[in-house]
Amino acid sequence: MNLIEKIKNLKKEKDAIILAHNYQTREVQEIADFVGDSLELARKAMNVDAKIIVFAGVDFMAETAKILNPDKKVLIPSRLASCEMASYLSPEMIDEYRKKYPEAKVVLYVNSTATCKAKADVICTSANAVEVVNSLDSNTVLFGPDSNLAAYVATKTNKKIIPLPANGHCYVHTNLGVENVRRDGILMVHPECSIELQKIADVVASTGGMVKFVAKSNAKRFIVATERDMVSRLARDFPDKEFIPAWSNAICLGMKQITLSNIYNSLKDEIYEIEIPEDIAKNARRAIERMLEVK
Ligand code: SF4
Repeated sequence: MNLIEKIKNLKKEKDAIILAHNYQTREVQEIADFVGDSLELARKAMNVDAKIIVFAGVDFMAETAKILNPDKKVLIPSRLASCEMASYLSPEMIDEYRKKYPEAKVVLYVNSTATCKAKADVICTSANAVEVVNSLDSNTVLFGPDSNLAAYVATKTNKKIIPLPANGHCYVHTNLGVENVRRDGILMVHPECSIELQKIADVVASTGGMVKFVAKSNAKRFIVATERDMVSRLARDFPDKEFIPAWSNAICLGMKQITLSNIYNSLKDEIYEIEIPEDIAKNARRAIERMLEVK
């Protein structure tokens, strides 16, 4: 029996479901029950009808699934699957900024730790950041940890956006520079990229937004400025169109820690289980649920 069949059998035997992010390799996407962006995965995680969720993504995504499913076992196949951007922000920094800007609301990107989420007013993803910010009654918003997404939101709202911290970013997306991306097709740019790259884009969109944009477009050739494996997702959905990574070195090392072999081990030995202290989970859940009420 090959690894794929073994994983399928274990899934059935243990009543498990595999959720995978768009940045996973094609083989991991193909074994998953559902593939999506952070917002789609968070929504999916709320309605999972299974005892075990195996999360093929990075740590903050598995944490979000656990926060929304406190009674389910949530597993991440590798402890090394983490998001570097999340490490730019700490709960202490949020306290400090709140003291400095007492009138402001705190909006945190889903790419943040559970401890930070517990201190936020509301969470957002790159798919709904503008709507979430506009839904607030405060005119000043502390937005973190991604300063590029903060800059993108600032171009789409009348509110004052203060990045929290000033230098938070994703190395995968900031290394996609105006000078190294290809331009020989419709250029789709993720809002985690620099504002300079966003300015020359044909469309700025989350990965889920890119899927929707391609579905409506008559164009045949797209340059994809985000993590390289997003083209695997697009190629599976639109086999008659061509997708090219804007830069072939745009690879998220955290995402690539997930493999078929550690998914198999994760299911077999029920490792590594995500656990979040109840007081943190309760406050983080409130902030995530507020986001889900907006969009
Ligand atoms: S691509 Fe960047 S923001 Fe996304 S998980 Fe990887 S390090 Fe984090």
